[in-house]
Amino acid sequence: MRVGILGGGLQGCCLALSLAERGVDVTLFDRNPRLLSRAAVANEGKIHLGYMYANDPSHSTARLMMRGALAFAPFFARHLGLATDSLTVSRPAAYIVHRDSQRTPDYISGYLAAVHALLHEASEGKRGAYFGRDLADQPRKWSTEQREAQFDPQIAVAAFDTPEVAIDPVALADMLRDRLSADRRIDIRLSHEVLSVKDAKSLEVAVATPDGVLSERFDHVVNALWDGRFAINEKRGLLPGRPWLHRLKYGVSFRLPAGTALPPSATFISGPFGEVVSYEDGLTYLTWYPVCLQGISDQIAPPADWPTYPPDPLRSHLLNGTLQAMAQFVPSLRNLDAGKLEDVTVKGGVIVAWGQTDIYDPASELHRRFEIGVTSTGCFHSIDPGKLTMAPWFADVCADRIVGDTGVG
Ligand SMILES: Cc1cc2nc3c(=O)[nH]c(=O)nc-3n(C[C@H](O)[C@H](O)[C@H](O)COP(=O)(O)OP(=O)(O)OC[C@H]3O[C@@H](n4cnc5c(N)ncnc54)[C@H](O)[C@@H]3O)c2cc1C
Repeated sequence: MRVGILGGGLQGCCLALSLAERGVDVTLFDRNPRLLSRAAVANEGKIHLGYMYANDPSHSTARLMMRGALAFAPFFARHLGLATDSLTVSRPAAYIVHRDSQRTPDYISGYLAAVHALLHEASEGKRGAYFGRDLADQPRKWSTEQREAQFDPQIAVAAFDTPEVAIDPVALADMLRDRLSADRRIDIRLSHEVLSVKDAKSLEVAVATPDGVLSERFDHVVNALWDGRFAINEKRGLLPGRPWLHRLKYGVSFRLPAGTALPPSATFISGPFGEVVSYEDGLTYLTWYPVCLQGISDQIAPPADWPTYPPDPLRSHLLNGTLQAMAQFVPSLRNLDAGKLEDVTVKGGVIVAWGQTDIYDPASELHRRFEIGVTSTGCFHSIDPGKLTMAPWFADVCADRIVGDTGVG
Protein backbone atom coordinates (compact mmCIF):
# COMPACT_ATOMS: atom_id res chain seq x y z
CA MET A 1 0.00 0.00 0.00
CA ARG A 2 1.17 3.54 -0.74
CA VAL A 3 -0.12 6.65 0.94
CA GLY A 4 0.30 10.19 -0.37
CA ILE A 5 0.52 12.86 2.32
CA LEU A 6 -0.13 16.43 1.22
CA GLY A 7 1.70 18.98 3.35
CA GLY A 8 4.98 18.69 5.23
CA GLY A 9 4.06 20.75 8.29
CA LEU A 10 3.91 19.16 11.72
CA GLN A 11 0.71 17.32 10.88
CA GLY A 12 2.03 15.80 7.66
CA CYS A 13 5.40 14.90 9.21
CA CYS A 14 3.79 13.24 12.25
CA LEU A 15 1.50 11.24 10.00
CA ALA A 16 4.45 10.11 7.86
CA LEU A 17 6.14 8.79 11.01
CA SER A 18 2.95 7.09 12.25
CA LEU A 19 2.36 5.32 8.96
CA ALA A 20 5.99 4.31 8.47
CA GLU A 21 5.92 2.88 12.02
CA ARG A 22 2.98 0.72 10.90
CA GLY A 23 4.92 -0.57 7.88
CA VAL A 24 3.34 1.71 5.27
CA ASP A 25 5.31 3.44 2.49
CA VAL A 26 4.47 7.13 2.21
CA THR A 27 5.22 9.99 -0.13
CA LEU A 28 5.19 13.41 1.50
CA PHE A 29 4.60 16.47 -0.72
CA ASP A 30 5.30 20.09 0.14
CA ARG A 31 5.47 23.13 -2.09
CA ASN A 32 8.32 24.69 -0.14
CA PRO A 33 11.96 23.64 -0.55
CA ARG A 34 12.11 22.58 3.11
CA LEU A 35 9.88 20.55 5.42
CA LEU A 36 8.37 22.33 8.42
CA SER A 37 8.73 25.86 7.12
CA ARG A 38 5.31 27.43 7.77
CA ALA A 39 2.90 27.45 10.75
CA ALA A 40 4.81 24.47 12.17
CA VAL A 41 7.71 26.76 13.05
CA ALA A 42 5.94 30.12 13.30
CA ASN A 43 3.97 29.27 16.40
CA GLU A 44 4.45 29.80 20.06
CA GLY A 45 4.72 26.10 20.89
CA LYS A 46 2.27 26.02 23.79
CA ILE A 47 1.15 22.45 24.41
CA HIS A 48 -2.37 23.26 25.49
CA LEU A 49 -3.88 21.59 28.52
CA GLY A 50 -7.15 23.47 27.96
CA TYR A 51 -6.72 26.38 30.38
CA MET A 52 -6.88 28.91 27.55
CA TYR A 53 -10.44 28.09 26.48
CA ALA A 54 -12.46 29.70 29.27
CA ASN A 55 -14.96 30.93 26.66
CA ASP A 56 -15.97 27.36 25.88
CA PRO A 57 -18.20 26.61 28.87
CA SER A 58 -18.89 23.08 27.56
CA HIS A 59 -15.21 22.25 28.33
CA SER A 60 -15.12 20.27 25.07
CA THR A 61 -12.07 22.21 23.84
CA ALA A 62 -10.23 21.62 27.11
CA ARG A 63 -11.02 17.90 27.04
CA LEU A 64 -9.73 17.54 23.48
CA MET A 65 -6.60 19.66 24.00
CA MET A 66 -5.50 17.70 27.07
CA ARG A 67 -5.90 14.47 25.12
CA GLY A 68 -3.57 15.83 22.43
CA ALA A 69 -1.19 17.31 25.02
CA LEU A 70 -0.82 14.00 26.90
CA ALA A 71 0.02 12.23 23.63
CA PHE A 72 2.53 14.86 22.44
CA ALA A 73 5.76 14.03 24.30
CA PRO A 74 5.19 10.23 24.18
CA PHE A 75 4.85 10.46 20.37
CA PHE A 76 8.21 12.19 19.99
CA ALA A 77 9.78 9.96 22.61
CA ARG A 78 8.78 7.00 20.41
CA HIS A 79 9.92 8.49 17.13
CA LEU A 80 12.95 10.53 18.15
CA GLY A 81 14.23 8.10 20.76
CA LEU A 82 14.02 10.68 23.54
CA ALA A 83 12.74 10.33 27.08
CA THR A 84 9.41 12.15 27.56
CA ASP A 85 11.05 14.54 29.99
CA SER A 86 14.02 15.37 27.79
CA LEU A 87 12.41 17.81 25.31
CA THR A 88 13.30 21.37 26.27
CA VAL A 89 10.24 23.16 27.58
CA SER A 90 9.50 26.69 28.71
CA ARG A 91 8.94 27.81 32.26
CA PRO A 92 5.31 26.92 33.10
CA ALA A 93 2.75 29.60 32.27
CA ALA A 94 0.92 31.66 34.83
CA TYR A 95 -2.59 32.48 33.67
CA ILE A 96 -3.25 36.17 34.15
CA VAL A 97 -6.67 37.79 34.14
CA HIS A 98 -6.40 41.07 32.21
CA ARG A 99 -8.48 43.94 33.61
CA ASP A 100 -10.39 44.05 30.28
CA SER A 101 -10.92 40.29 30.28
CA GLN A 102 -14.15 38.88 28.91
CA ARG A 103 -14.36 36.86 32.15
CA THR A 104 -14.08 37.82 35.83
CA PRO A 105 -11.28 36.52 38.07
CA ASP A 106 -13.83 34.38 39.93
CA TYR A 107 -15.07 32.84 36.72
CA ILE A 108 -11.50 32.11 35.59
CA SER A 109 -10.67 30.61 38.97
CA GLY A 110 -13.66 28.26 38.69
CA TYR A 111 -12.82 27.41 35.08
CA LEU A 112 -9.19 26.56 35.87
CA ALA A 113 -10.31 24.35 38.75
CA ALA A 114 -12.78 22.54 36.46
CA VAL A 115 -10.07 21.97 33.84
CA HIS A 116 -7.75 20.71 36.53
CA ALA A 117 -10.35 18.12 37.59
CA LEU A 118 -10.71 16.98 33.98
CA LEU A 119 -6.94 16.82 33.62
CA HIS A 120 -6.66 14.75 36.76
CA GLU A 121 -9.05 12.22 35.22
CA ALA A 122 -7.46 12.31 31.75
CA SER A 123 -3.93 11.82 33.06
CA GLU A 124 -4.73 8.81 35.20
CA GLY A 125 -2.35 6.00 34.25
CA LYS A 126 -0.27 8.46 32.15
CA ARG A 127 2.17 9.62 34.77
CA GLY A 128 4.96 11.71 33.28
CA ALA A 129 3.27 11.87 29.86
CA TYR A 130 3.23 15.67 29.87
CA PHE A 131 6.99 16.22 29.54
CA GLY A 132 7.58 14.35 32.81
CA ARG A 133 5.79 17.08 34.78
CA ASP A 134 3.69 16.61 37.85
CA LEU A 135 0.08 17.57 37.07
CA ALA A 136 -1.28 16.93 40.57
CA ASP A 137 -1.39 20.48 41.90
CA GLN A 138 -4.52 22.55 41.38
CA PRO A 139 -3.83 25.98 39.74
CA ARG A 140 -2.90 28.19 42.67
CA LYS A 141 -3.93 31.83 42.92
CA TRP A 142 -1.00 34.19 43.45
CA SER A 143 -0.89 36.47 46.47
CA THR A 144 -1.22 40.21 45.79
CA GLU A 145 2.47 40.72 46.65
CA GLN A 146 3.54 38.03 44.22
CA ARG A 147 1.40 39.53 41.45
CA GLU A 148 2.68 43.05 42.14
CA ALA A 149 6.29 41.84 41.93
CA GLN A 150 5.88 40.47 38.40
CA PHE A 151 3.13 42.52 36.74
CA ASP A 152 1.39 45.86 36.84
CA PRO A 153 -1.38 44.94 39.31
CA GLN A 154 -3.76 47.50 37.78
CA ILE A 155 -3.75 45.49 34.56
CA ALA A 156 -3.06 41.96 35.84
CA VAL A 157 -6.01 41.71 38.23
CA ALA A 158 -5.48 38.03 39.15
CA ALA A 159 -2.83 35.39 38.46
CA PHE A 160 -2.79 31.61 38.74
CA ASP A 161 0.00 29.03 38.46
CA THR A 162 -0.52 26.27 35.93
CA PRO A 163 1.76 23.41 34.82
CA GLU A 164 1.32 24.32 31.13
CA VAL A 165 4.52 24.60 29.09
CA ALA A 166 5.61 25.36 25.54
CA ILE A 167 8.20 23.64 23.38
CA ASP A 168 10.53 25.40 20.97
CA PRO A 169 8.97 24.47 17.60
CA VAL A 170 12.14 25.37 15.70
CA ALA A 171 14.26 22.94 17.71
CA LEU A 172 11.62 20.21 17.26
CA ALA A 173 11.50 20.84 13.50
CA ASP A 174 15.29 20.47 13.23
CA MET A 175 15.14 17.04 14.90
CA LEU A 176 12.18 15.94 12.79
CA ARG A 177 13.73 16.85 9.43
CA ASP A 178 16.74 14.64 10.22
CA ARG A 179 14.52 11.82 11.45
CA LEU A 180 12.24 11.87 8.39
CA SER A 181 15.01 12.01 5.84
CA ALA A 182 16.64 8.95 7.44
CA ASP A 183 13.46 6.83 7.21
CA ARG A 184 13.50 4.56 4.16
CA ARG A 185 9.71 4.30 4.12
CA ILE A 186 9.29 8.08 3.75
CA ASP A 187 9.80 9.56 0.31
CA ILE A 188 10.02 13.35 0.56
CA ARG A 189 9.07 15.51 -2.43
CA LEU A 190 9.89 19.15 -1.86
CA SER A 191 9.07 22.05 -4.21
CA HIS A 192 6.00 20.05 -5.27
CA GLU A 193 2.80 22.11 -5.22
CA VAL A 194 -0.33 20.00 -4.95
CA LEU A 195 -2.90 21.02 -7.56
CA SER A 196 -5.67 18.43 -7.19
CA VAL A 197 -6.59 14.92 -6.10
CA LYS A 198 -8.73 13.05 -8.61
CA ASP A 199 -10.48 9.70 -8.53
CA ALA A 200 -8.91 7.33 -11.02
CA LYS A 201 -8.37 3.58 -10.39
CA SER A 202 -6.82 4.77 -7.18
CA LEU A 203 -6.44 8.37 -6.03
CA GLU A 204 -4.38 10.52 -8.41
CA VAL A 205 -2.43 13.47 -7.00
CA ALA A 206 -1.41 16.18 -9.51
CA VAL A 207 1.58 18.31 -8.52
CA ALA A 208 3.41 21.24 -10.10
CA THR A 209 7.15 20.59 -9.90
CA PRO A 210 10.19 22.46 -11.26
CA ASP A 211 10.05 19.92 -14.15
CA GLY A 212 6.38 20.50 -14.98
CA VAL A 213 3.09 18.97 -13.86
CA LEU A 214 3.23 15.32 -12.78
CA SER A 215 0.69 12.93 -11.33
CA GLU A 216 1.03 9.97 -9.08
CA ARG A 217 -1.41 7.35 -7.81
CA PHE A 218 -1.93 6.27 -4.23
CA ASP A 219 -4.16 3.85 -2.32
CA HIS A 220 -4.92 6.53 0.27
CA VAL A 221 -4.35 10.29 0.23
CA VAL A 222 -4.29 12.53 3.29
CA ASN A 223 -4.75 16.27 3.02
CA ALA A 224 -2.65 17.89 5.77
CA LEU A 225 -2.20 21.21 3.97
CA TRP A 226 -3.45 23.41 6.84
CA ASP A 227 -4.19 26.75 5.09
CA GLY A 228 -4.05 24.99 1.70
CA ARG A 229 -6.56 22.33 2.77
CA PHE A 230 -9.88 23.88 1.72
CA ALA A 231 -8.66 24.66 -1.82
CA ILE A 232 -7.94 20.99 -2.53
CA ASN A 233 -11.05 19.72 -0.72
CA GLU A 234 -13.24 22.15 -2.68
CA LYS A 235 -12.11 20.54 -5.95
CA ARG A 236 -13.42 17.23 -4.58
CA GLY A 237 -16.75 18.80 -3.62
CA LEU A 238 -15.85 18.63 0.06
CA LEU A 239 -16.25 22.25 1.05
CA PRO A 240 -17.67 22.63 4.59
CA GLY A 241 -21.04 24.30 4.87
CA ARG A 242 -19.93 26.70 7.59
CA PRO A 243 -17.78 29.84 7.77
CA TRP A 244 -14.09 29.79 8.60
CA LEU A 245 -11.36 32.36 9.08
CA HIS A 246 -7.71 32.43 8.11
CA ARG A 247 -5.82 34.77 10.43
CA LEU A 248 -2.25 35.96 9.94
CA LYS A 249 -0.58 36.25 13.32
CA TYR A 250 3.01 37.15 14.21
CA GLY A 251 5.22 36.59 17.21
CA VAL A 252 8.60 37.95 18.23
CA SER A 253 11.41 35.94 19.74
CA PHE A 254 14.86 36.88 20.99
CA ARG A 255 17.50 35.91 23.50
CA LEU A 256 17.80 38.07 26.61
CA PRO A 257 21.20 39.63 27.28
CA ALA A 258 23.21 37.57 29.80
CA GLY A 259 22.43 38.46 33.38
CA THR A 260 18.94 39.86 32.62
CA ALA A 261 16.19 38.63 34.95
CA LEU A 262 13.94 36.16 33.14
CA PRO A 263 10.35 37.30 32.67
CA PRO A 264 7.61 34.93 33.85
CA SER A 265 5.84 32.80 31.24
CA ALA A 266 2.38 34.33 31.19
CA THR A 267 -0.87 33.92 29.25
CA PHE A 268 -3.37 36.78 29.48
CA ILE A 269 -7.00 35.72 29.25
CA SER A 270 -9.76 35.91 28.01
CA GLY A 271 -9.78 38.05 24.91
CA PRO A 272 -7.43 39.80 22.47
CA PHE A 273 -4.34 39.88 24.68
CA GLY A 274 -1.04 38.05 24.49
CA GLU A 275 1.61 35.86 25.93
CA VAL A 276 5.16 35.68 27.20
CA VAL A 277 6.97 32.36 26.82
CA SER A 278 10.18 32.28 28.79
CA TYR A 279 12.91 29.61 28.71
CA GLU A 280 15.61 29.09 31.32
CA ASP A 281 18.34 29.85 28.73
CA GLY A 282 16.93 33.32 28.03
CA LEU A 283 14.99 32.47 24.86
CA THR A 284 11.84 34.60 25.03
CA TYR A 285 8.75 34.65 22.80
CA LEU A 286 6.19 37.46 22.88
CA THR A 287 2.92 38.02 21.12
CA TRP A 288 0.37 40.80 21.64
CA TYR A 289 -2.80 40.27 19.64
CA PRO A 290 -3.71 43.89 18.75
CA VAL A 291 -0.24 44.38 17.23
CA CYS A 292 0.51 40.85 15.98
CA LEU A 293 -2.77 40.07 14.21
CA GLN A 294 -2.07 41.45 10.74
CA GLY A 295 -4.60 39.86 8.42
CA ILE A 296 -7.94 38.11 8.34
CA SER A 297 -9.55 36.34 5.38
CA ASP A 298 -12.67 34.26 4.82
CA GLN A 299 -11.58 33.16 1.33
CA ILE A 300 -10.90 29.57 0.27
CA ALA A 301 -7.16 30.18 0.81
CA PRO A 302 -5.38 33.06 2.52
CA PRO A 303 -3.69 35.68 0.31
CA ALA A 304 -0.45 34.31 -1.18
CA ASP A 305 1.42 37.47 -0.19
CA TRP A 306 1.06 37.05 3.59
CA PRO A 307 4.76 36.90 4.52
CA THR A 308 6.20 34.45 7.04
CA TYR A 309 9.12 36.81 7.65
CA PRO A 310 7.75 40.37 7.33
CA PRO A 311 9.96 42.98 5.67
CA ASP A 312 10.53 46.40 7.24
CA PRO A 313 8.75 48.63 8.20
CA LEU A 314 6.26 45.91 9.31
CA ARG A 315 9.02 43.89 11.03
CA SER A 316 10.12 46.86 13.18
CA HIS A 317 6.52 47.75 13.93
CA LEU A 318 5.86 44.20 15.17
CA LEU A 319 9.05 44.03 17.23
CA ASN A 320 8.80 47.47 18.85
CA GLY A 321 5.00 47.50 19.16
CA THR A 322 4.86 44.10 20.86
CA LEU A 323 7.72 44.86 23.22
CA GLN A 324 6.25 48.24 24.17
CA ALA A 325 2.75 46.85 24.73
CA MET A 326 3.93 43.97 26.90
CA ALA A 327 6.44 46.13 28.83
CA GLN A 328 3.53 48.24 30.08
CA PHE A 329 2.47 45.48 32.41
CA VAL A 330 5.44 43.07 32.56
CA PRO A 331 8.10 45.23 34.30
CA SER A 332 10.95 42.77 33.57
CA LEU A 333 10.56 43.61 29.86
CA ARG A 334 10.80 47.37 30.45
CA ASN A 335 14.53 47.88 30.30
CA LEU A 336 15.10 45.94 27.11
CA ASP A 337 16.48 47.82 24.13
CA ALA A 338 15.03 46.22 20.98
CA GLY A 339 18.12 47.29 19.04
CA LYS A 340 20.46 45.33 21.35
CA LEU A 341 18.59 42.02 21.62
CA GLU A 342 20.27 38.91 20.19
CA ASP A 343 18.81 36.30 17.85
CA VAL A 344 15.74 38.41 17.08
CA THR A 345 13.18 36.65 14.88
CA VAL A 346 9.87 38.14 13.80
CA LYS A 347 7.83 35.39 12.24
CA GLY A 348 4.20 34.72 11.50
CA GLY A 349 1.82 32.16 10.15
CA VAL A 350 -1.77 31.41 9.38
CA ILE A 351 -4.27 30.18 11.95
CA VAL A 352 -7.23 28.34 10.41
CA ALA A 353 -10.39 28.01 12.50
CA TRP A 354 -14.17 27.93 12.27
CA GLY A 355 -15.83 31.28 12.88
CA GLN A 356 -17.02 34.54 11.44
CA THR A 357 -15.97 37.13 13.99
CA ASP A 358 -12.63 37.85 15.64
CA ILE A 359 -11.83 37.02 19.28
CA TYR A 360 -12.85 40.53 20.38
CA ASP A 361 -16.35 39.00 20.24
CA PRO A 362 -16.81 36.79 23.35
CA ALA A 363 -19.31 34.68 21.40
CA SER A 364 -16.92 34.10 18.47
CA GLU A 365 -16.50 30.46 17.45
CA LEU A 366 -12.74 31.10 17.61
CA HIS A 367 -13.04 30.58 21.38
CA ARG A 368 -14.05 26.94 20.77
CA ARG A 369 -11.68 24.60 18.96
CA PHE A 370 -13.06 21.12 19.44
CA GLU A 371 -14.55 20.57 15.97
CA ILE A 372 -11.27 19.49 14.44
CA GLY A 373 -9.60 16.20 13.53
CA VAL A 374 -9.68 13.60 10.77
CA THR A 375 -12.50 13.46 8.22
CA SER A 376 -12.53 10.52 5.79
CA THR A 377 -14.42 10.06 2.53
CA GLY A 378 -13.45 6.66 1.21
CA CYS A 379 -9.68 6.61 0.86
CA PHE A 380 -9.36 10.40 0.95
CA HIS A 381 -8.72 11.84 4.41
CA SER A 382 -8.48 15.44 5.49
CA ILE A 383 -6.93 16.48 8.82
CA ASP A 384 -7.63 19.74 10.55
CA PRO A 385 -5.09 19.71 13.42
CA GLY A 386 -6.59 22.94 14.81
CA LYS A 387 -3.50 23.28 16.98
CA LEU A 388 0.11 22.15 17.01
CA THR A 389 -0.77 20.34 20.24
CA MET A 390 -3.07 17.94 18.41
CA ALA A 391 -0.88 16.92 15.45
CA PRO A 392 0.77 13.79 16.94
CA TRP A 393 -2.45 12.35 18.29
CA PHE A 394 -4.42 13.02 15.08
CA ALA A 395 -1.54 11.41 13.15
CA ASP A 396 -2.02 8.19 15.12
CA VAL A 397 -5.81 8.37 14.70
CA CYS A 398 -5.48 8.76 10.93
CA ALA A 399 -2.77 6.09 10.60
CA ASP A 400 -4.90 3.60 12.56
CA ARG A 401 -7.84 4.36 10.32
CA ILE A 402 -5.82 3.77 7.15
CA VAL A 403 -4.08 0.66 8.40
CA GLY A 404 -7.29 -0.71 9.93
CA ASP A 405 -8.97 -0.16 6.59
CA THR A 406 -6.44 -2.26 4.70
CA GLY A 407 -5.12 -4.61 7.33
CA VAL A 408 -1.50 -3.46 6.75
CA GLY A 409 0.67 -3.03 9.83
C1 LIG B 1 1.49 32.76 15.50
C2 LIG B 1 0.94 31.38 15.77
C3 LIG B 1 0.98 30.88 17.07
C4 LIG B 1 0.48 29.60 17.33
N1 LIG B 1 0.62 29.11 18.60
C5 LIG B 1 0.24 27.84 18.86
C6 LIG B 1 0.47 27.29 20.15
O1 LIG B 1 1.04 27.94 21.03
N2 LIG B 1 0.06 26.01 20.39
C7 LIG B 1 -0.56 25.26 19.43
O2 LIG B 1 -0.92 24.12 19.74
N3 LIG B 1 -0.77 25.75 18.18
C8 LIG B 1 -0.37 27.02 17.87
N4 LIG B 1 -0.55 27.52 16.61
C9 LIG B 1 -1.22 26.71 15.60
C10 LIG B 1 -0.26 25.70 14.94
O3 LIG B 1 0.90 26.34 14.51
C11 LIG B 1 -0.97 25.02 13.78
O4 LIG B 1 -2.19 24.46 14.23
C12 LIG B 1 -0.17 23.87 13.15
O5 LIG B 1 1.19 24.20 13.00
C13 LIG B 1 -0.79 23.57 11.77
O6 LIG B 1 -0.37 22.35 11.25
P1 LIG B 1 0.95 22.20 10.34
O7 LIG B 1 2.13 22.36 11.21
O8 LIG B 1 0.82 20.92 9.62
O9 LIG B 1 0.80 23.45 9.34
P2 LIG B 1 1.92 24.03 8.33
O10 LIG B 1 3.25 24.10 8.96
O11 LIG B 1 1.38 25.31 7.75
O12 LIG B 1 1.96 22.88 7.25
C14 LIG B 1 1.21 22.87 6.06
C15 LIG B 1 2.19 22.60 4.94
O13 LIG B 1 1.47 22.48 3.72
C16 LIG B 1 2.21 23.11 2.69
N5 LIG B 1 1.24 23.46 1.65
C17 LIG B 1 0.13 24.23 1.73
N6 LIG B 1 -0.53 24.24 0.56
C18 LIG B 1 0.17 23.43 -0.29
C19 LIG B 1 -0.03 22.97 -1.64
N7 LIG B 1 -1.08 23.34 -2.38
N8 LIG B 1 0.88 22.10 -2.16
C20 LIG B 1 1.94 21.66 -1.42
N9 LIG B 1 2.18 22.07 -0.17
C21 LIG B 1 1.31 22.95 0.39
C22 LIG B 1 2.89 24.29 3.35
O14 LIG B 1 4.06 24.66 2.64
C23 LIG B 1 3.18 23.74 4.75
O15 LIG B 1 4.49 23.23 4.85
C24 LIG B 1 -0.08 28.82 16.29
C25 LIG B 1 -0.10 29.31 14.99
C26 LIG B 1 0.42 30.58 14.73
C27 LIG B 1 0.41 31.07 13.32
